[in-house]
Amino acid sequence: MATTQEQPEVLAFGAISFLRGHRQGKYPYCHTLLVRDEVLAVIDPSAEKATCRRLARDPRLKAVLISHFHEDHQKYLTFFPDEYIWVPASEVEAFAGLGGVLALMGIKDPEYLAYWQKTLQEEFHFRNRPQVKTFVDGTEFTFGRTRVQVLHTPGHTPGHSCFYFPRESILYLADIDLTPFGPWYGDEASDLDALLASLQRLEEVPARLYLTAHGQGVFPAAAGRQALRQFRQVIFDREAELLHRLQRPRRLQELVGQRLIYRKPLEPKFVYDHIERQMIGKHLQRLLKAGQIRETEEGYVATGRSH
Ligand SMILES: [Zn+2]
Repeated sequence: MATTQEQPEVLAFGAISFLRGHRQGKYPYCHTLLVRDEVLAVIDPSAEKATCRRLARDPRLKAVLISHFHEDHQKYLTFFPDEYIWVPASEVEAFAGLGGVLALMGIKDPEYLAYWQKTLQEEFHFRNRPQVKTFVDGTEFTFGRTRVQVLHTPGHTPGHSCFYFPRESILYLADIDLTPFGPWYGDEASDLDALLASLQRLEEVPARLYLTAHGQGVFPAAAGRQALRQFRQVIFDREAELLHRLQRPRRLQELVGQRLIYRKPLEPKFVYDHIERQMIGKHLQRLLKAGQIRETEEGYVATGRSH
């Protein structure tokens, strides 16, 4: 039977192509990058099933780069041979086995643990890949005339990496995705201060074109730089709102229930409880460190001190 699934939109920038992900690259899909030079390289193979399967069978394929361990960036990695796969060195354990994924996410709730193991195996075809190769900040890949440099940009996850093509001045931002939702730091291993430092570093890259893994996906230079600043501002807006709510004491559990981050109830509830708890918790730690809130018997409360 013929497939009715649409072919992904492809935008070519010389040897570099942007494949728009299924459903506009919305989770559980993401946009995928290709380098078609003397060899074929694929970055974050999650755009669309049939396309990824075809790419995996291309005899010119030599490398598959994964920006970070999140499942929506490796939805169709299962089609690709392990010998070509490269991942961030600082989260290689999340590729070696499920235990590594669960540890970085910080999942302890047994219901969530069972749900997540099943989801990763059935929907994302997770399997242990102890043999993958690793890259670090500054690693450079050469695919014919096309070169790509790894920029280690931790925060979203410990190993999150962006890819910069210096000759073309194209910067792939992965999950620094410039969506209006803003940055995501909902794993236990996510780090808000590291993320802020990464965003600052990315603002200094002389890119003429920004590509992301979700949402709009393609941003010319000025629009990309502005979107990066707005994206960072979301962190400060969230923090200001949290501080406002702490004019009276509130416990973490109450704040989690208020859905300050997601703004609406989403299912499964235990997943979004976990993410809200992680993200609000990271803001609380920052505010405590800055002396803007303190912990009392009744919960966290603003001290009235400004930053
Ligand atoms: Zn991610």
